[in-house]
Amino acid sequence: MRSNAVCGCFAGCFVRLRRRILTVGMLSPLATGIYAGISAAAGAGLAAGGFAYASLWPGSRLFGRALTAPARPGELALTFDDGPNAVWTPRLLEILAERNVRGTFFLLGHRAAAQPKLVRRIATAGHTIGNHSWSHCNLSRASTARIREEMRRTSDELQQIVGAPVRFFRPPFGARRPVVFRMARELGLEPVLWNAMTSDWSTPSAEHIAERLAKRIDALNRRGRAANIVLHDGGHRDATANREPSVLAARLLLARYTASHRFVSVDAWR
Ligand SMILES: [Zn+2]
Repeated sequence: MRSNAVCGCFAGCFVRLRRRILTVGMLSPLATGIYAGISAAAGAGLAAGGFAYASLWPGSRLFGRALTAPARPGELALTFDDGPNAVWTPRLLEILAERNVRGTFFLLGHRAAAQPKLVRRIATAGHTIGNHSWSHCNLSRASTARIREEMRRTSDELQQIVGAPVRFFRPPFGARRPVVFRMARELGLEPVLWNAMTSDWSTPSAEHIAERLAKRIDALNRRGRAANIVLHDGGHRDATANREPSVLAARLLLARYTASHRFVSVDAWR
């Protein structure tokens, strides 16, 4: 992956960023929408583009450091956001168990509270459980009190369910400002972003999702990087979201890379 170091001017960042969005599709739905708006207001939007880069681009360190992926080519972390999902999380657990692979699940607090047995099942299978906020709100725009409450309440709920502290946090949409990561660390949470994402939440074909991610994984591998892959087993707006394409894409990636790569949970990268 090319360096994500901060550019000397926002215009340069913005152009590079738009190119990456078009080719890689690594941004969350919120970020994609914001960039569409910025693009429409090109010229006047350079400062906004710089802010958006810092607050939404997963590789940006302007608003604090986060765990993405180390220089370990051949290692892959499958991470799953927005669950638990009553139908698709269990299916995903079966698929991971077939390959004896451990993944990382960034859970929403309010969904976890409604399905404690499923959360325990994830933990008992050896997967890493992470905090993905209580309600999936945009923390880059939330008050400090709200940010703390979203994180603390979720960590408390998950710890109560699984009997162990939660150590990782992924901000919804990847959206943050400096206080978000600072507060996460105060609560004992390591911020985690990603470097391989496609729009699995809106793509009906598992093959297309897996193919796009494989291109990204292979590119990262060539650059000497591990891949921190995001898929969604839940939907933050819909508790019953159909995540069959995402879950089947995970199965395709497992089939494709099990022999040549090592699947890890983000625990391995601390
Ligand atoms: Zn999410």
